[in-house]
Amino acid sequence: METTTYVYSRRGRLVRSVTSREPEWTEQDRAEILALDLYRSRLCPLHGGPMDECTSPEETGTQFEADRSTCRAQLTLIEAQRAADDGKKPSPYAGARLWTLRKRG
Ligand SMILES: [Zn+2]
Repeated sequence: METTTYVYSRRGRLVRSVTSREPEWTEQDRAEILALDLYRSRLCPLHGGPMDECTSPEETGTQFEADRSTCRAQLTLIEAQRAADDGKKPSPYAGARLWTLRKRG
């Protein structure tokens, strides 16, 4: 928020104006963003979870299991993209196309 105070002379002429702004980031905001940065810096760039877990010793550390499912939204997109290039050599514009995914029904 911004507040401006105008100071006028007796003749009504503007002498000065003082504008004060509330800081956009409070100390609390800064502390939270630093904490978030720290948290993110400890995440594995490969699987997205905590790095101390996935790099722990295999014998004593966290155990993992993998389950498979399909993102049908991405699948729809891939199928539409393949259909657009069906039978043709890849268009030089293929990488510049903008695709929009909508939910049906
Ligand atoms: Zn990992």
